[in-house]
Amino acid sequence: MKIAVLGGDGFCGWPTSLHLSDQGHEVHIVDNLSRRWIDTELGVQSLTPMDSIQERCRIWKDLTGQALHFHLLDLATEYERLRQWLAEEKPDAIIHFAEQRAAPYSMKTDRHKVYTVNNNVNATHNLLTAMVETGIDAHLVHLGTMGVYGYSSVGAAIPEGYLDVEIENLQGEKKGMEILYPTKPGSVYHMTKSLDQILFQFYAQNDGVRITDLHQGIVWGTHTEQTKRHEQLINRFDYDGDYGTVLNRFLIQAAIDYPLTVHGTGGQTRAFIHLQDTVRCVELALKDAPKAGDRVKIFNQMTETHRVRDLAEMVSKMTGAKIAYLPNPRKEAAENDLIVKNDGFRDLGLSPITLAEGLLDEVVEVSKKYAHRVDRSRVPCVSAWTKDIAGRIETDP
Ligand code: NAD
Repeated sequence: MKIAVLGGDGFCGWPTSLHLSDQGHEVHIVDNLSRRWIDTELGVQSLTPMDSIQERCRIWKDLTGQALHFHLLDLATEYERLRQWLAEEKPDAIIHFAEQRAAPYSMKTDRHKVYTVNNNVNATHNLLTAMVETGIDAHLVHLGTMGVYGYSSVGAAIPEGYLDVEIENLQGEKKGMEILYPTKPGSVYHMTKSLDQILFQFYAQNDGVRITDLHQGIVWGTHTEQTKRHEQLINRFDYDGDYGTVLNRFLIQAAIDYPLTVHGTGGQTRAFIHLQDTVRCVELALKDAPKAGDRVKIFNQMTETHRVRDLAEMVSKMTGAKIAYLPNPRKEAAENDLIVKNDGFRDLGLSPITLAEGLLDEVVEVSKKYAHRVDRSRVPCVSAWTKDIAGRIETDP
């Protein structure tokens, strides 16, 4: 297949591009490199030394003989170029990773909120309308997030996208209907992902666009089979307070002898998936495309759930690091449950890598190896969800 990977220079997009290229697909990476500019804005860098996207593509070609094509294009602000690109290249499948993906960054200031909404909502809508306008029949696979749902209530598992409900009509009869599982976003970033869902629902029903939406958990891990093949193919690893997800922060804190900073009681439960399983799930989703006219196919792309304090304890046991409890910069429940149905990918044959078996590799192979590149001052989370929380943030463990 000819596959466009939008956001293919990013943490999930790069290893996915390599994985699909390795399988013989013709891969086109489309990216505006905004993530690299955000690193510059924040004064941070990936823990792992990343080459330019052009250099990465060159190394892959030298190593495998397979070309990876790179196109510099902004999905959100260059609509005409995007439409023209689709009309010329006519990809068979499009994988859409190209959004601003950090909740803390999206809550930093009003400017960051505006940027995140403009970038994410326009990127997704421009893509959908350009697909319809050019008449290409590509399968669109989007990376959404489990975070749109908030957390489980009444002890029920979060289903894969849809909920059967019963409502009473004016005649007093009970009628069944299927609705999108309600979202309850906890940040501006998650709000944009909730809006994406509605855009997908509309274009699937109105124009027959074939769409799969993967509601992904927090991705951990750095390497995949392909990124390990050459030092210069290494993936990015974010550890800073905005982009570093909780487990990456713990790993790096342990490596530099900094206490593991748990926010609040650490009773927040989160869903996780290893990067290698992320790329496998995208491959499985591509093979199981919906037909025109089908509803949006939704998978919960996660393999395990953990409470933040339990994760901290797991890393602490492995490394000897201390744990520090700090006030939570987010506005969220102190404790939550998260029960998730993930039968979709299990039925398609996914056999996941668990934290228990893969975490030690990350400690030794990545965090300890590159610890000398860490700027300690960038580790604390300083983006507060509301102005009054900002006044109570403590960053010194
Ligand atoms: P990332 O920031 O590393 O990568 C996103 C890429 O998209 C970057 O290379 C960026 O330059 C590009 N991009 C952003 N806006 C663009 C635009 N307007 N035009 C062109 N390119 C643009 O993020 P990631 O961690 O790889 O996440 C990828 C997707 O997966 C995101 O949509 C995110 O919401 C979703 N996701 C990620 C995680 C996770 O733990 N990393 C969890 C759940 C969902």
